[in-house]
Amino acid sequence: MTVPPSPRVDRRHFIAASGAAALTAALPRPADAARPQVRGGPVVISSGNGLVAVARALAQLNDGVDPAAAVVHGVAAVEDDPRDMSVGLGGLPNEQGVVQLDASVMHGPTHKAGAVAGLENVRNAAAVALEVLRRTDHVLLVGAGALAFARACGFEEENLLTERARQAWLKWKGNLNPDDDWLDDDQLVTPAPDSRAHAGPTPHTHGTIHCAALNDQGDLGACTTTSGLSYKIPGRVGDSPIIGAGMYVENDIGAAGATGRGESVIQSCGAFQIVQHMGRGDHPTAACLKVLEWIARHTRRPALLNDRGQPNFGCTMYAVRKDGAYGSATMRGRNVQFAVADAAGARKEECAVLYG
Ligand code: ASP
Repeated sequence: MTVPPSPRVDRRHFIAASGAAALTAALPRPADAARPQVRGGPVVISSGNGLVAVARALAQLNDGVDPAAAVVHGVAAVEDDPRDMSVGLGGLPNEQGVVQLDASVMHGPTHKAGAVAGLENVRNAAAVALEVLRRTDHVLLVGAGALAFARACGFEEENLLTERARQAWLKWKGNLNPDDDWLDDDQLVTPAPDSRAHAGPTPHTHGTIHCAALNDQGDLGACTTTSGLSYKIPGRVGDSPIIGAGMYVENDIGAAGATGRGESVIQSCGAFQIVQHMGRGDHPTAACLKVLEWIARHTRRPALLNDRGQPNFGCTMYAVRKDGAYGSATMRGRNVQFAVADAAGARKEECAVLYG
């Protein structure tokens, strides 16, 4: 099996690898092909924090770059941005103050995946996952092995814990338990020398970027990259690097991904289920909603349910189908958005909501 070089791909090799004619014949007839947004590729979608990412990935597609490489290039803009505390540089750390990243990538034409989990000191986890995809017969590298692999591939190491993320972590740690030896905020002995630093940002608990692309040949690629659940137990791996959970691509059907409570997405094989629903003819939005309903039905632990018996956590699904239809749905909340880029430009659109 050959996987295209990153970031550019030879078009002839790419079309041969994709078996374009067979794919067209195998394309399921969508139930709602008349929807106005159905117009084929190129189209890129992402979680709401990826407006820059979808624009960058679309520009790459228009340059003939392979979709898997294009989405990795797109999300690097968010991984590199220290203001986004859910991904890459500036991501919130684990309970010991160490940033550990998870990411996965999948290349539709070859059905090859690559992923890393618990990666430290390298900000572009999705690019490392792409190298796993391109250079190895494996799918998932973790921890020290993932870092050694990244070093071998020439990635630079750095401290990913920004001052802002360290302040947020310290605040969380200090207020964790009223009975430990860390004084809670309201008991600190003297004011912080810099009151802005003392205030710290509101800690996020989840955050991630998922990005999927369909090119004008009908080929798909997708990736998901994250610093995961903030203040997690060291070694905890979320859904983002798990193929079929936080991200999945089937070149004959479509691509899907997830952000939010990773444990629920892993236990539902979320992205895999979405793609299978699309294969049976569902619109991407309907497929996302079905999987959110599935998660809701299988959430049994009382601590995860509100007084109406609905999941009390955030979870958002994203999907793009081979014919260019796309959609996103979220478990709960108002004005939750996802990002899209196509011939009409880059913009945000509203997610469908399961529990409004
Ligand atoms: N899904 C990610 C995880 O559980 C976090 C998130 O998307 O908020 O690691």
